[in-house]
Amino acid sequence: MKTRRSFLKASIATALLPMPAFAQGQPRVLVVGGGFAGATCARELKRLMPDARVMMIETNATFTACPFSNGVVTGLRELRAQQFNYEALGSLGVSLVYLSARNIDPQARTVTVTDGTALPYDRLVLAPGVDFRWGSPAGYDEAASARMPHAWKAGEQTLLLRRQLESMEDGGLVVISAPPNPMRCPTGVYERASLIAFYLKARKPRSKLIILDAKDSFPKQRLFQAAWQQLYPGLLEWVPLSNDGKVVSVEPASNTLVTDFARHAAAVANVVPPQKAGAIAATAGVADRTGWCPIDPVTFESPLQKNIHVIGDAAISGAMAKSAFAANAQGKACAGAIAQLLAGQTPGSGKLINTCYSLVAPDYGISIVGVYQPVNGQYVDVEGAGGTSPLEAPRETRAAEANYAAAWFRTITAEVFG
Ligand SMILES: Cc1cc2nc3c(=O)[nH]c(=O)nc-3n(C[C@H](O)[C@H](O)[C@H](O)COP(=O)(O)OP(=O)(O)OC[C@H]3O[C@@H](n4cnc5c(N)ncnc54)[C@H](O)[C@@H]3O)c2cc1C
Repeated sequence: MKTRRSFLKASIATALLPMPAFAQGQPRVLVVGGGFAGATCARELKRLMPDARVMMIETNATFTACPFSNGVVTGLRELRAQQFNYEALGSLGVSLVYLSARNIDPQARTVTVTDGTALPYDRLVLAPGVDFRWGSPAGYDEAASARMPHAWKAGEQTLLLRRQLESMEDGGLVVISAPPNPMRCPTGVYERASLIAFYLKARKPRSKLIILDAKDSFPKQRLFQAAWQQLYPGLLEWVPLSNDGKVVSVEPASNTLVTDFARHAAAVANVVPPQKAGAIAATAGVADRTGWCPIDPVTFESPLQKNIHVIGDAAISGAMAKSAFAANAQGKACAGAIAQLLAGQTPGSGKLINTCYSLVAPDYGISIVGVYQPVNGQYVDVEGAGGTSPLEAPRETRAAEANYAAAWFRTITAEVFG
């Protein structure tokens, strides 16, 4: 694992773009999805092209953010601290449609929304986040998630998992099932396990937590494991794939998780299922056989459908993790590329940064930073840039990183939704 170095001053392609002049009338750009990727992109499109008609189609008028939602699960913060509206985006001139995109016709260049209206576009940005592969593990469907919450889309599921932890008796077994990659927020499961362990240690110290993992490694692993040994000895156990960690089926009626060789009867079962791009991506024909969306890393345009761009968790963006930080960076870069394309220019490639913070305890933060550039049609790590928090560090450093994490969340949500 790399150590932290001062990372490159990455140039984000959008920074110094001239205002484009359009050949024929005002271009029309639709954005589907108002999460970290889509809302960023819509805002940036309007900033770069004040004369363009920018419309954002989003199912929910209130956005509930996943980053920091593990704090809600463990009673450290309330769900309302995760919730944001789009009023500021509307006041900047982005047209807002609170409906779901139901169908996309790439030939006619229209998006049909749930009331039946077909909305035309010159360029379309899809930012639908993830959907779950229901039925994996066997027996885990939407109905099962009412008993064994995933809490991997923030909202009611987050509160359900919290209530289950609160009502569990001291001495209970909490089991988290972690899916294979690619997944939204590859470190989020381990942050969640850490904060649940923090809660159990303080409130229900005879309890135990097991992570059953479909993987043999995860980012910041040595940092997490060192912290677990120090903070939660005997309380938290990680069971990797090679040690029978993969959950193959669940039995919701008895809250049981089944692996190849064992059955785990849980008091609280948190099943994070395997994922794929949000369903509208497949409808639009921009998802490939993996269930995710290939992109040109310079423009984020789909190689499968012209004039459709995909950003955020739904996109295959190489070495970049599926994170809100990355989604925000991609939203800006994509807007810049679209502004240039619509002005008849050729977008140039830039570097993008991603930083992921994790809380191991409320005052104990660790992070990983990456810098990425397009090589052979995919984002790859810039060698020698980025890295993780140091393995050996005083508690003040960990406390400072916990503060940086909180500051990052305040800043990004103010930038995107403020
Ligand atoms: C527990 C947890 C912790 C996390 N912690 C962090 C963290 O600390 N740092 C970090 O950077 N990332 C974190 N993440 C990851 C982060 O939440 C995602 O990577 C990020 O939200 C991706 O942004 P997005 O815009 O692609 O998708 P989303 O934010 O999910 O937004 C997608 C939006 O599209 C809308 N939508 C979908 N389909 C349609 C449709 N057909 N029509 C209209 N609207 C539609 C949805 O309603 C949604 O609002 C965490 C995730 C989890 C689960």
